[in-house]
Amino acid sequence: MLNGEEDIMLSFLFDFTATQALDLVDHRCVSHIVSSSGRELYKIQRNATEFHICLKNSNYCTCPSFIFHVLKKEQFMCKHKLAVILSSAMGLCKEVQYADETITLMLVGEQ
Ligand SMILES: [Zn+2]
Repeated sequence: MLNGEEDIMLSFLFDFTATQALDLVDHRCVSHIVSSSGRELYKIQRNATEFHICLKNSNYCTCPSFIFHVLKKEQFMCKHKLAVILSSAMGLCKEVQYADETITLMLVGEQ
């Protein structure tokens, strides 16, 4: 949990994206997924029906905000990627292992 001052500083830097990202961190929505062959990615799930995937080593996310705001350079990163960075830094990611096939299906949006 961040203290109030850091929270304000992040909100200043990232505007409402930070508030939304902190909400995801607070609710432990970020899973760090490692496949059987060692591939790594992050799954951000806020509810039972919707999730987004972030890649580990690049500023990429499967959410609409990434396409509409990050690619157009209106925003530096989406709330999911920021939530991944914050959750990793604070050790708040759920650690999960998936089979390679499952990860492939997730990336093409089938799972
Ligand atoms: Zn996103």
